[in-house]
Amino acid sequence: EEEDLAVLEGAEVAEAPGGRAGLPVLAVVGRPNVGKSTLVNRILGRREAVVQDTPGVTRDRVSYPAEWAGRHFTLVDTGGWEVDVAGIDARVAEQAEAAVELADAVMFVVDATVGPTDTDERVVRLLRRSGKPVVLVANKVDSPMQEADAAMLWSLGLGEPYPVSALHGRGSGDVLDAAMAVLPEVSAVAGKLPEGGPRRVALVGRPNVGKSSLLNMLAGTERVVVHETAGTTRDPVDELIELGGKPWWFVDTAGIRRRVHQTSGADFYASLRTQAALEKAEVAVVLVDASVPMTEQDTRVVQQVIDSGRALIIAYNKWDLMDEDRRPFLEREIELDLVQVQWAPRVNFSAKTGWHTNRLVRALETALDSWDTRIPTGRLNAFLGELTAAHPHPVRGGKQPRILFATQVSNRPPRFVIFATGFIEAGYRRFIENRLRQSFGFAGSPIEISVRVRE
Ligand code: GDP
Ligand code: GDP
Repeated sequence: EEEDLAVLEGAEVAEAPGGRAGLPVLAVVGRPNVGKSTLVNRILGRREAVVQDTPGVTRDRVSYPAEWAGRHFTLVDTGGWEVDVAGIDARVAEQAEAAVELADAVMFVVDATVGPTDTDERVVRLLRRSGKPVVLVANKVDSPMQEADAAMLWSLGLGEPYPVSALHGRGSGDVLDAAMAVLPEVSAVAGKLPEGGPRRVALVGRPNVGKSSLLNMLAGTERVVVHETAGTTRDPVDELIELGGKPWWFVDTAGIRRRVHQTSGADFYASLRTQAALEKAEVAVVLVDASVPMTEQDTRVVQQVIDSGRALIIAYNKWDLMDEDRRPFLEREIELDLVQVQWAPRVNFSAKTGWHTNRLVRALETALDSWDTRIPTGRLNAFLGELTAAHPHPVRGGKQPRILFATQVSNRPPRFVIFATGFIEAGYRRFIENRLRQSFGFAGSPIEISVRVRE
């Protein structure tokens, strides 16, 4: 195996293996209107700036894969999210805090034409407390004449302010270089999971689906294990709960118990919280309210879990409110809404009455087993050999790419790299994924397949 890989070294990389897991995270924070979205768009290389002038427009993602000078990283974007004007100060700080928690380094954006405000000062204090490296962006410096404005920002005490015009691109390369210099090669926050010990579960889902009810039900009916081992410091935001005879960490339960009020901006805050919980978890239970049709926000949470590479269970809660007449429709909705995640185990229960909540354990175990799976290279290649002999890749433009060799590069979740003689089209890749799932299971785990082309 080693030899095969060595031979294939230098093969053209058609797609970076490994996905986003473990990539360093750079968060862009600052007050509304300082130009965060504009800067993010520039970093992502979007031609059309999708900056919204209308407040109240919510984005559907928190983070994006990004690249600068050959380095891959995850960019967390806090711009463009609705901020309520009344509590603006507290809200900005709260969002920044959540974003900073998720980040390895921070780009703090200040409007140089306005100068530092009280809200900026407040964010500075928070950044200092976090101990994370910060690059100070003095934005809206559209011409050299305005560079004096940027120099005023030395007063923030965050070191050199980088004069930038996110709008025109001026200085954006220098500030990105500075960010790369402080961004670690390997993330300290993303994809860093402790090995061994109780498995780590995140309860996620949009507000009011019943996360805290489920947590209380699980913690109440089952014994709450007090972690007493001498010398172990317990993260107070996680709770150890015994289910099915063994302890499980339920992560970021403080985020569930501390109710975020339904004010504007809560959506974004909820997304960040979800992201933070996912970083710490191995498996996520996405709660969905079965008594009402699925919403876009539900599917967004499911997508967030898939993107995070964590194992996934879909839990239909509030089953006690289910009208028998609605049931056939629900089944149809489920098939339609979750067609991409047929592989996720489903459980139906009522967090309120406790009905069937005990079924969660088996689903958790199944999903984690899949997530941990390693397929020996020999078995994988025997399987692929048979599959591709029976169903070769379609001929395209007179060419037929052949699969040479495949290997599982990691687990948690399973990631595969396939070496091929040409581009493997998406449909065929999906076909391989489906057959892999049919043959090896993987219920409850995302799997990643990347292809390297060897000319
Ligand atoms: P956000 O709320 O921090 O995400 O800010 P936006 O990116 O939405 O930008 C707010 C406004 O500032 C928009 O009208 C942008 O066009 C404008 N803006 C952003 N960057 C610059 C810049 O470098 N120079 C100038 N002159 N305007 C900018
Ligand atoms: P969270 O925001 O996701 O933590 O949701 P909560 O646990 O606070 O629940 C929101 C509301 O739904 C509360 O009024 C709960 O009592 C109710 N609820 C939660 N689970 C169930 C359930 O299984 N059945 C019914 N009927 N109500 C539920």
